[in-house]
Amino acid sequence: MDICVDFDGTCTTHEFPRVGKDIGAVPVLKELVAKGHRLILFTMRSDNKEGSYLTDAVDWFKENEIPLFGINRNPEQTWTTSPKAYGQCYIDDCALGAPLLYNPELSHAPYIDWSVVRSFLLSKNL
Ligand SMILES: [Mg+2]
Repeated sequence: MDICVDFDGTCTTHEFPRVGKDIGAVPVLKELVAKGHRLILFTMRSDNKEGSYLTDAVDWFKENEIPLFGINRNPEQTWTTSPKAYGQCYIDDCALGAPLLYNPELSHAPYIDWSVVRSFLLSKNL
């Protein structure tokens, strides 16, 4: 399965333009890759004259040894020019129903509760 994963508030706490803190995404994402799923980073971050914000996110995956299949697009997506990256699953802190944690000592904004995401994925045999 191709899984599109948001970055800020999803892989880490929300601290844009900086890379946020660990929230438990790494082992779950590694587990998904180990099971053969392909991850597509699907983020509003971009590189521009003010900063290499997208590269910072890509580097987070490299540093955590999590391979990416795509960055903001599915490389096998040739049948449409839509900017939406094709995936069968999207993990995003802004998604309706996404399980969130809020700890003001860790972050000013809610972030993905990866233990609930993991349990949900396992319940769907993913
Ligand atoms: Mg987000």
